Amino acid sequence: MTCHNLHPAPDLILVNPWIYDFAAFDLWAKPLGLLYIASYLRQAGFGIHLIDCLDIHHPKLKAYSSIPSPVRRRFGTGKFLRQKIPVPRVLADVKRSYCRYGIPVDLYREELAAVKEPAAIIMTSLMTYWYPGVHEAIRIAKEIHPDVPVIMGGIYAGLCYEHAKRAGADIVTVSREPESLLMILKERGIFASENRAGSAPHHFYPAFDLLHGIDYICIASSTGCPFRCQYCASHFLRPEFVQRKPEEVSAEIVYWHKTFGIRDFAFYDDALLISSETHIVPILQSLEKYWGSIRFHTPNAVHIKGISQKIANLMYRAGFKTIRLGLESYDISFHRVLDKKVAEGEFEQAVRYLFEAGFKNNEIGAYILMGLPDQPVESVRETVRLVDRAGVIPYLAEYSPLPHTELWDQAVKKSGYDLVSEPLFHNNTLIPCWDDSQKKEIPGLKSMVYEVRKRYAYKA
Ligand code: SF4
Repeated sequence: MTCHNLHPAPDLILVNPWIYDFAAFDLWAKPLGLLYIASYLRQAGFGIHLIDCLDIHHPKLKAYSSIPSPVRRRFGTGKFLRQKIPVPRVLADVKRSYCRYGIPVDLYREELAAVKEPAAIIMTSLMTYWYPGVHEAIRIAKEIHPDVPVIMGGIYAGLCYEHAKRAGADIVTVSREPESLLMILKERGIFASENRAGSAPHHFYPAFDLLHGIDYICIASSTGCPFRCQYCASHFLRPEFVQRKPEEVSAEIVYWHKTFGIRDFAFYDDALLISSETHIVPILQSLEKYWGSIRFHTPNAVHIKGISQKIANLMYRAGFKTIRLGLESYDISFHRVLDKKVAEGEFEQAVRYLFEAGFKNNEIGAYILMGLPDQPVESVRETVRLVDRAGVIPYLAEYSPLPHTELWDQAVKKSGYDLVSEPLFHNNTLIPCWDDSQKKEIPGLKSMVYEVRKRYAYKA
């Protein structure tokens, strides 16, 4: 037990740590889980101090004029702040700059020190191979607040639990439920204040209002996924597929639009179009009054099977501006074995429906998985050709091997890297499950994609 037993002023610091990687882009990327936790704990009566290390709107950034401002793009997306840092020793062979994406370290220190006596520090984590940013954020938090317990959760903690225990946190939790965090705090003698609970906003929406600026809102209308694709950890991280009530989802969208003037909404769902008649259809129809004022984006991809003529029309009229389709491969035998989510001809038909509804080439993209163990380069090439013929934009999605997926054992066997003991080798930049002869073909694949994108991307 620490001096924080029965803490009289229960302030919590919640941290979204830096990304450490060769590349990172803000494609509607916000720590949604952490923002839900912030909202829940605020309602429970804690004072919340959020430190978003990926913040581009922090008012004190002006003092760091040596760091160039990040270029921002359409619909709230754009680059992050970044600073080059030494590449980790085990990745020294990769001839690319390695960066810390996010706010300067000194600003992070300042933010931590601004909270005089926090009762606990709660840290999230995302990609497994971004862990150096998490470890560094914890190390500095411990330096500034040595006696304050650090509780760490998130995707890296869930997928690489044993490795995450070395991060320096006092507690590593694999639970994604805010209630279990409340239990952990209680066990440490950290209780909320009822007085404070009364003054919190009366909703459980993720606490986007704690950010320094809101460029867009990420909406999760469901959690989990009913599919079991062998390369995906969704089922492990969220075993149950649960859809929220449509009226709740549309009320949340209206709240952010009316209260904060937000126009861009990115769906974070893994399976947005499942049971569409009782889910996405009523959500969008009930927002009819706002069609034209709000825009929707699907960075996580939607299921090709879910795009009927009716859905395509509705999505168009409701204001979807970014449609990403989870194609992965043209090869039907790939789908038979690995994901069962696309059948012959369904991709072409879905694209036809989208065009007929009114979407333009540059609003529709198809994700193509590249770098799976035993995946022939030619199948990726064929898939790019298929997407090109369909008239939409191909996006290569480099495969990152993930523990607790069905494909993990095969990935470990196939990879030349020690995936088991070093999560840095999960980095998709390495294409860790392809051999050198396959990797030699990657520049050719990328230039094929570039040519197609050049043709379609900027047509009016
Ligand atoms: S890849 Fe997509 S469809 Fe497949 S299990 Fe993961 S989230 Fe679901």
